[in-house]
Amino acid sequence: MNENPDCIFCRIVAGEIPSFKLLEDDRVLSFMDINPANEGHCLVIPKAHAPNLFESDDGSLAAAAAACRRVADAVRRTLDPPGISLMQANGPAAGQSVFHFHFHVIPRRADDDLLFNWEPRPGDLDAIGRLAERIRASLRQEPAPQKTMRLE
Ligand code: AMP
Ligand code: ZN
Repeated sequence: MNENPDCIFCRIVAGEIPSFKLLEDDRVLSFMDINPANEGHCLVIPKAHAPNLFESDDGSLAAAAAACRRVADAVRRTLDPPGISLMQANGPAAGQSVFHFHFHVIPRRADDDLLFNWEPRPGDLDAIGRLAERIRASLRQEPAPQKTMRLE
């Protein structure tokens, strides 16, 4: 499936561009962000191309939301960050740079000074790949979505 050849995320879905995949089913794909705002920054995308929230279909939205919870829980069990933000941008003014609907899953610290519109900086691909393997290992274990997150 390559719905939109000009879309980098459709090309990742189609396997034309490599990615550090975390989970995949027929509706959604999750992979590491290669310009991480913080260590462990991941993305969750519906496979069906839609440029933003408003043009996505309900099924894709529901599948992406469920995948966000699974990935966030795996990140929590892998890195034990004090917080995790889900972020989703619509339009350049909101900081959207890839126009294929997606959620960010971002581990947070109280002192990380992360702004909503952060400056992307290339990450260390070896370190991102190692982290992807650890998060995948957490995904292979039973998720525990009901466990209350430790908030500081
Ligand atoms: P946004 O700015 O909200 O549209 O988010 C797009 C995200 O996609 C940014 O955080 C980029 O770092 C990330 N990104 C762009 N290209 C790739 C890629 N090839 N692999 C992984 N992440 C990417
Ligand atoms: Zn796309």
